[in-house]
Amino acid sequence: MRDQHVRFGRSDLQSELRRRVDDYFEQSGQTRDGGVRIIVKTALIFAWFFAGYITFLVLRPGALGTMALAISTGLACSGLGFAVQHDGGHRAYSRKPWLNRASAAVLDFLGGSSYVWRHKHGFVHHTYPNVTGVDEDIHTEPFARMHGNSPYRAAYRFQHIYIWALYALLPFVWVLYDDVRRLWTGKVGSTKLARPKGREVAIFLAGKVVYCSWAFLIPAMTVGWASTLLFYVTTQLCLGLTLAIVFQMAHCVEEAEFVHPAPGGPRLDHARLQLATTVDFAQHNRLLSWYVGGLNFQVVHHLFPAVSHIHYPALSKIVAETCAEFDVEYRVIPTLPQALRSHYRFLRRLGQPDATSYQSENAYCTNN
Ligand SMILES: [Zn+2]
Repeated sequence: MRDQHVRFGRSDLQSELRRRVDDYFEQSGQTRDGGVRIIVKTALIFAWFFAGYITFLVLRPGALGTMALAISTGLACSGLGFAVQHDGGHRAYSRKPWLNRASAAVLDFLGGSSYVWRHKHGFVHHTYPNVTGVDEDIHTEPFARMHGNSPYRAAYRFQHIYIWALYALLPFVWVLYDDVRRLWTGKVGSTKLARPKGREVAIFLAGKVVYCSWAFLIPAMTVGWASTLLFYVTTQLCLGLTLAIVFQMAHCVEEAEFVHPAPGGPRLDHARLQLATTVDFAQHNRLLSWYVGGLNFQVVHHLFPAVSHIHYPALSKIVAETCAEFDVEYRVIPTLPQALRSHYRFLRRLGQPDATSYQSENAYCTNN
């Protein structure tokens, strides 16, 4: 269901970008999926996950060893989310539908719900990034203020200091509260979430059984509850922090704009909306690009979510050239520390009572 207040118009820029990317794939003879490279990558990250997890179960280390292995396993969990589940959820992992479903279900393995994610992220966030009233990712009240239309609270003055702890706690909120609430109410923000049926219910329930087994049951029977809880909590804190920071650096930074649509307002241009509200960072950091599954090329991802992330560096050149010709800004933060600092300054500024967010005029259609 689309939001009634937000309407889209024709986009000359979108059409041209699509045409050039189609040409790229035709001329290079490549397919849009991840091919063998993504299968190898998936195997490597799963090996990383199980290396930490099985070492923990076999060696039964003390508290420090448990926490070190949990941090490694938590980083592997984030890697699975970034590089495997995210492509699968967008059906960009493979040309085979069952492989896309399997890689998307990695989120259920990690405690989330691939069904809720497909609606919340795949549809709502990708259609309406940084659009207030619709994109749930920027509605963090009463804990933090991510846009200028969000009502002010005195505590937000310190959000640039305390937010990191809240990011770390996010997996607990998703698993125990958010997904359940969304399925129960049948809503994600202002959009309707259809009730899951058949296979979707089966994946949701099987995911909970598998997750509870590896996270609690198996370790509790092997190393006892105290070590299990220490390992679990540390893994989840690490997962929450890395996931939140990577996604926030793409949308909640000083370089990104926000859209406050009014009923009957002008139509949005899909491509210009993505380009105004989304930012790439550290494009030349190859290790980071590998680990975050190309999500540092978030602009490319938002323009072409159905293309595997292994193609993003090549597509970013096409996006940059096309944007230059259309005189539209392609927002890039050069390095990871600069992106982190920009997010920090963004939080500090939005924590001030009189702060407004960077209201976009660039996201609207200019010619229809
Ligand atoms: Zn996405």
